[in-house]
Amino acid sequence: MVLGTASQVPTRHRNHNGYLLRWDGEGLLFDPGEGTQRQMLRAGVAAHDLNRICVTHFHGDHSLGLAGVVQRINLDRVPHEITAHYPRSGQHFFDRLRYATAYRETVALTEAPVDTDGTLAATGSYTLEARRLSHPVESYGYRLIEPDGRRMLPERLAAHGIKGPDVGRLQREGSFDGVPLADVSEVRRGQRFAFVMDTRLCDGVHALAEGCDLLVIESTFLDEDTDLATEHGHLTAGQAAAVAREAGVRHLVLTHFSQRYGEPDEFERQARAAGFEGELTVAHDLLRVPVPKRR
Ligand SMILES: [Zn+2]
Repeated sequence: MVLGTASQVPTRHRNHNGYLLRWDGEGLLFDPGEGTQRQMLRAGVAAHDLNRICVTHFHGDHSLGLAGVVQRINLDRVPHEITAHYPRSGQHFFDRLRYATAYRETVALTEAPVDTDGTLAATGSYTLEARRLSHPVESYGYRLIEPDGRRMLPERLAAHGIKGPDVGRLQREGSFDGVPLADVSEVRRGQRFAFVMDTRLCDGVHALAEGCDLLVIESTFLDEDTDLATEHGHLTAGQAAAVAREAGVRHLVLTHFSQRYGEPDEFERQARAAGFEGELTVAHDLLRVPVPKRR
């Protein structure tokens, strides 16, 4: 769910950044810029829907909304724990935003700052990883990887005469009646999602994008402003699309647009010119983008 798509300043048509990922019953809020609390309301996202908050870096368009969202979580007395990830070097910014004004704290908000590449959390439905990006302030991108599963093959089961409750036993025990699980099933690759904001091209961008089913990535600038993008630590539409093409991304979502451009179609044109042939979305506020179905 796209909550906002503007870099630096909101415009008449675009709120500051903000994105909610729904993943197997969990909600992960990424980069809540100013106005995110109201965008959540407009998008039908409740404070109760949140389980994790991931902040790439402490510029206002990625974090000013924390103050409002944190207070709303407490006002609504969300009954479960919520975990926040953000660059450790910005702890003082997080502290100020968390305690920007007086309110009654009712919720367990766990601070889990990031200071190196690696795994932040592993649940039954995903592993969450961070990778350092390249921006004037310390910035981390995030990626979720669902564990691989196995898809049962009905014709192979039938060939071995395995049916009914025996299929469940085979799945639990790894073999049944001398038939190994691998003979009657195939690997079902887990889904992958990455969130890449505010960076110039660097190793982290490529690593995060690798093999993603869904990639949400900044394309602040158009290709004619590549020098400006590199100088300020941002990507162009063509650069973001080239990364996605090389990484085999299935659905590319471009967002975080500079207010200097009026015409979103040009981002799409430049992304296609860079050779990206998968599904492509130029994001706008309150757009819902499904994670592609498993292959
Ligand atoms: Zn930004």
